[in-house]
Amino acid sequence: MTHIAGRPYLAIPGPSVMPDRVLNAMHRASPDIYAGELPEMMAGLYDDLRAVARTRHGVAIYIANGHGAWEAANSNMFSPGDRALCLITGHFGEGWARWVEPMGVEVERLDFGRQNAVDPERVKAALRADRGGRIKAVLMTHVDTTTSVRNDIAAVRAVIDEVGHPALLAVDAVASLACDRFEMDEWGVDVMVCASQKGLMTPPGLGFVWISRKAREACVASRLRTPYWDWTRRAEPEEFYQRFGGTAPTHHLYGLRTALDMILHEEGLDAVWARHEALAKAVWAAIEGWDGPGGAHDIRLNIADPALRSHAVTTVRFRAPYASKLREWVQTHAGVTLGIGLGMSEPGVESTHDHLRIAHMGHVNAHMTLGALATLEAAMKGLGVAHDAGGLSAAAQALVGSIGGVHDKL
Ligand SMILES: *Cc1c(COP(=O)(O)O)cnc(C)c1O
Repeated sequence: MTHIAGRPYLAIPGPSVMPDRVLNAMHRASPDIYAGELPEMMAGLYDDLRAVARTRHGVAIYIANGHGAWEAANSNMFSPGDRALCLITGHFGEGWARWVEPMGVEVERLDFGRQNAVDPERVKAALRADRGGRIKAVLMTHVDTTTSVRNDIAAVRAVIDEVGHPALLAVDAVASLACDRFEMDEWGVDVMVCASQKGLMTPPGLGFVWISRKAREACVASRLRTPYWDWTRRAEPEEFYQRFGGTAPTHHLYGLRTALDMILHEEGLDAVWARHEALAKAVWAAIEGWDGPGGAHDIRLNIADPALRSHAVTTVRFRAPYASKLREWVQTHAGVTLGIGLGMSEPGVESTHDHLRIAHMGHVNAHMTLGALATLEAAMKGLGVAHDAGGLSAAAQALVGSIGGVHDKL
């Protein structure tokens, strides 16, 4: 069965599903960048970017993806010979470390494996051991999109404060912003990086760096800063063009304007977080239901503790090579594209063969997530992958639980 009819569903963890309204907002003639609607729109856009990150501090926008936002943050934070303490809970934590190392920054890695969250005690020990105070910043992901682990940012802040170490806390929230609760100021985050194409529901092309006042002051003398990446003028411009180091990403800004309207002013951030949590719980219930009591079928959520699981994406392990076969099946027969496993496997096994990822980030609702799960169950039946009955029913029940239980029984 082909899927020429109906809408295809890209359920990979970025780019996410783009709302038609966002795309339509971009479909327009080029606006004037010197006067009129676009420049006038900027103050409100920056207010809303602060609101979505729960901060009163500034934000710099770049024409870039998440990797560009990493480089922007790196360039502003470090001088050659500084040290970065990189907390690694998956491929993207390792990615940030690999991105900063060639810039001449010394990297100290704390790797917590692929199924665990950051252990703040190890961070504390590493900071205590840094007697020379060479660690300029702690770099960590909020959600690592490959393992689907969600780290406790406030707990890391607490140990930095306990040790009394001056290091900045820099957080990659590319996968989690506007999906999982994120509280920049309350959690004491100094620098946060994000990109447009995940929870922010805007096509890839905008990178963001939020900057606390403390970070701005601690980094004034950083010597890796180059003119294009310099966050100073972008966050506090004297002229409009300085916000973007050149021509503004005009159409993306209109898309982002609409996306932030939807997130903040229509649904509301609390409701957005609650929706992601409800969909995540439905996915977890399906996986646990298929695995069956005692885990007979070897269909596993990568992160055992629900408190440490992302609400934006779920990484699942199947026996190799089922994961790639299942992805192929739902793609071919159901028009659903699931995420590949990335950086997960034992040596000798391709991650794509024994892991897949189900995204539930951004512009998604219950029928999309339950639909993706139902096609996955069809794929298991089609391919003869052993599983327990009841996964879908458990997902439906979990959803009802999130919505508020069975009410008004007829
Ligand atoms: C997607 C992602 C990135 C990389 O973003 P790109 O836009 O692909 O460069 C970095 N970190 C995390 C946690 C991500 O999910």
